[in-house]
Amino acid sequence: MANSDRIYIFDTTLRDGEQSPGVSLNVDEKLEIAHQLTRLGVDIIEAGFPIASPGDFAAVKKIADNIKGAVVAGLCRANFKDIDRTWEAVKGAETPRIHTFIATSDIHLKYKLQKSREEVLEQAVEAVKYAKKYCSDVEFSAEDASRSDIDYLALLIEKVIEAGATVVNLPDTVGYAVPDEFGLFIRTICERVPNIDKAIISVHCHDDLGLAVANTMAGIMNGARQVECTINGIGERAGNAALEEIVMNLYTRRSFYKKDININYQEIYRTSRLVSTLTGMPVQPNKAIVGQNAFSHESGIHQDGVLKERSTYEIMSPELVGVKSSKLVLGKHSGRHAFRERLKELGYKLTEEELEKAFVKFKDIADKKKEISDDDLEALVNEQVRAVPERFSLEYLHISSGTSIVPTATVKLNIEGNILEAASTGDGPVDAACHAIDKITDIYGKMHDYKLNSISGGKDALGEVIAKIEIDGKLYTGRGLSTDVIEASVKAYINAINKYYYEKQLNRSS
Ligand SMILES: [Zn+2]
Repeated sequence: MANSDRIYIFDTTLRDGEQSPGVSLNVDEKLEIAHQLTRLGVDIIEAGFPIASPGDFAAVKKIADNIKGAVVAGLCRANFKDIDRTWEAVKGAETPRIHTFIATSDIHLKYKLQKSREEVLEQAVEAVKYAKKYCSDVEFSAEDASRSDIDYLALLIEKVIEAGATVVNLPDTVGYAVPDEFGLFIRTICERVPNIDKAIISVHCHDDLGLAVANTMAGIMNGARQVECTINGIGERAGNAALEEIVMNLYTRRSFYKKDININYQEIYRTSRLVSTLTGMPVQPNKAIVGQNAFSHESGIHQDGVLKERSTYEIMSPELVGVKSSKLVLGKHSGRHAFRERLKELGYKLTEEELEKAFVKFKDIADKKKEISDDDLEALVNEQVRAVPERFSLEYLHISSGTSIVPTATVKLNIEGNILEAASTGDGPVDAACHAIDKITDIYGKMHDYKLNSISGGKDALGEVIAKIEIDGKLYTGRGLSTDVIEASVKAYINAINKYYYEKQLNRSS
């Protein structure tokens, strides 16, 4: 291989990350994340699991057809039907990859697959050969590798490489491994498999014992050259290894690891924010690299040290990962030009139509709020531009509420030009407004998991509500933005209904 010190970053936010409980992203949201991942500079984007559902297939295909500069991978089990479907989804990519997997541990063979080791080995080899007919880049994963018999695993890997696998992934599927042991495991495989130089070894670690990143780093030290990870470490159960932590380990401790990566560090924070917003999964304040407190110094001694010389208590600069101290940039009198320039500086590439939509929204907010910060602008673009088509939009909202009266809401919705009105009571003002909306739309949602974030400080702060709304048994993430908390909540509710409606139309047309 050309450069054995190069580590490839394989992002699986859109596949393993999307398997986080309660997360469901629509096609447009997935594409938006994929675009941001290419700006971040990841090498491989795992876009989804095409056979899982028509929605998954559509998302992988759209990403494959639109993304430039990164390999686009689709996941499939080791059978012909899955592989056909995955190839159908990824074949339009600039550089497609088929990623096929089968479990190799005795516990999975016995209870899940009910197959012998010989049968699984043969199935793995046949799957790789079959995938190879379509695609030169084939990744094979030995699910539950870390709990597999090492002699059997080494033989199986030799055979799948012989069959044409170019990447072999060794996951710690259940998050059971310990760094020293996992490192030794990777090294043993590298030493035992005679044709290992024909493939790249990859690791994929889960965080059930809080060791996903530590195990990944141990893998890198022992021969792994691809690492599978997700933004903010989201994923099944306790999640996957966090991309931002792995790359900042490699950067900050370069003299120790001596590995090269191709990441645009300044995009880390924005990517984290985008994924958090679109999935509705907040980042804990003390999270390494991207948590709100990651770069704040609280103790007097630390503050004094940092003021004298930053390196006393700071091993990385917040600016490097794209954390900006929120500057006040725009206000009521800012024009289209200033608005466009600022968005460009923030890294947004909007079409004229999107820009116009965002500008109208900006003016609306600037009427109520004196100063618009970068954070406000990001929230506004997230809400407005990435929105699904708005079949329903809020025209008018009146609430009467207090300590001794029953909360009552009157709502007018604009439904493609027609204004419909309803009134209702409820347990609280938001509940009352949601009931009124239900009456108008005849779509009945149930609000779960309500979160309110203050986007910027001050009394006139913009509030962003992220709520999970259950409609027809499925969860939709709704977002609403306003200087008024109740209005933001009602907008989040309407946003979820619009997503539900949009998805229903898509399913009908496909
Ligand atoms: Zn996984």
